[in-house]
Amino acid sequence: MVNDPRRYVVIGGGLAGLASAVWLAEAGKQVTLLERRGRLGGRTHTMKVDAVDDVPDNGQHVIASGYDHLFRYLTSIGTREFVAFPHHATLRWPDGRSTTMATKGLGALRTLFGAHPDASLLDRLRAARATLRLGWQCLHQPADLADLTTEQWFQRIGMPATAREALWDWLALGVAAEPVQQESAKVLADVMATGIRLGIKHRQPATIGYPTTDLDTLFITGAERVFERHGVQVRHRAVARRIHIVDGAVTGVELADGTVVPADAVVCAVPNSNVGGLLDELPEHADIYAAADKLGYTPIVSTNLYLDRPLGTTSQFEALIGGTGVIDEVFDRQLMTGRGTDRAWLYCLTTSGAYEQIHKTNEAIVAEQMELLRRYYPAAADAKVIQGHVVRMPKATFSQVIGTHGLRPDQRTSVPSLVLAGDWTATDWSATMESAAQSAARAVDLLLALPSVP
Ligand SMILES: Cc1cc2nc3c(=O)[nH]c(=O)nc-3n(C[C@H](O)[C@H](O)[C@H](O)COP(=O)(O)OP(=O)(O)OC[C@H]3O[C@@H](n4cnc5c(N)ncnc54)[C@H](O)[C@@H]3O)c2cc1C
Repeated sequence: MVNDPRRYVVIGGGLAGLASAVWLAEAGKQVTLLERRGRLGGRTHTMKVDAVDDVPDNGQHVIASGYDHLFRYLTSIGTREFVAFPHHATLRWPDGRSTTMATKGLGALRTLFGAHPDASLLDRLRAARATLRLGWQCLHQPADLADLTTEQWFQRIGMPATAREALWDWLALGVAAEPVQQESAKVLADVMATGIRLGIKHRQPATIGYPTTDLDTLFITGAERVFERHGVQVRHRAVARRIHIVDGAVTGVELADGTVVPADAVVCAVPNSNVGGLLDELPEHADIYAAADKLGYTPIVSTNLYLDRPLGTTSQFEALIGGTGVIDEVFDRQLMTGRGTDRAWLYCLTTSGAYEQIHKTNEAIVAEQMELLRRYYPAAADAKVIQGHVVRMPKATFSQVIGTHGLRPDQRTSVPSLVLAGDWTATDWSATMESAAQSAARAVDLLLALPSVP
């Protein structure tokens, strides 16, 4: 039953907007969701590839065990069961060598202290000491951390080259989607501090998992069921242009076609690249726009590679050390989702911080990826590419390079009935799905705390 006469409007149908709409609906509110595209999901969705009659994801997404708000969202929409946490991953070197990287228990400690096959005993001792220093400095951060790149921080704490190559550079790239030479050390430190705190809270160390299904099934279809149940109105191809504010309260959202959707409370859940113009009537809009601009973007290139034979992977996800300049990951969709191989074997390759690759043609990217795979997997030598589906995302996430600390805006604005959400707003996490979900939880809490309408 709806007791609150307010009309809640959520702008943006990515994870932050979906979670906001789901949780407002669960709280019994009247919700309208505006999405400028013809589909929901934002940066997490499937794509149709006609040539192989398949619907792969736009890019492989991994999920950390500390994604509490994302798990809350999955529980709300009934898809929590579609996330698995493997016991190990594999690190591979171009000469055919590989190491199993335990992700749980004592094995994980061994990984932390030296997963490199060439690591000497001295290297391992140094890695152990540097890792302890790193953990300490995450929780008790040196004042100048925001002025250091992650590489400078690693050098300062004495992280040996073998430990960096096998684990830390790869992990840091995964956390901030920027190479360690550019990434702000504070981003890694903050995320690790969150991971350590959550590990203590849940009494188990943070680990990495993955979806066992496609992204639409994981994030969207369950939300649509909730929307149907609670009468949430979803408007596709509704491009919000400006949020109207009168006397310190929102009154409506103007769309690109000139119509106005009446609103008494608004969650603005668009990425930093799309916020321009929407907040013009908010007193502090110039500061938010300036922050959105400075946060900028980092590119990710994902390739869905359909091969005529298996590569010989031994884990669901494998890291290729020393790949194309940045470290690449290979995801085996057969092992992850149990998909059949009657038509092809599907491998998803991800290059984060793909500043060079993003400018290449699809053919060049597929050729480069195949060349790379041949250096790591003997079975790739004779493999034929049935289809190479390249997804280039120049604005994959906001950028977390040095100099961006403190820019992310809070969900609260000076207008109580207008809140911000989205991975780029201030949260405990870097640019992740958890940041999107956490921002939604904070935004919704702020709106639910509004005084009731007399
Ligand atoms: C290739 C790739 C790999 C990634 N890998 C991982 C990973 O492994 N783990 C992880 O945690 N995260 C990962 N991420 C990041 C994660 O996908 C994002 O952080 C998250 O999906 C962002 O959600 P969001 O709701 O904040 O923004 P978005 O998903 O961008 O949603 C914003 C929505 O707003 C809509 N919109 C914009 N402007 C308007 C407007 N004016 N009117 C109406 N609608 C509008 C957009 O169309 C979009 O649907 C990855 C991202 C990419 C691209």
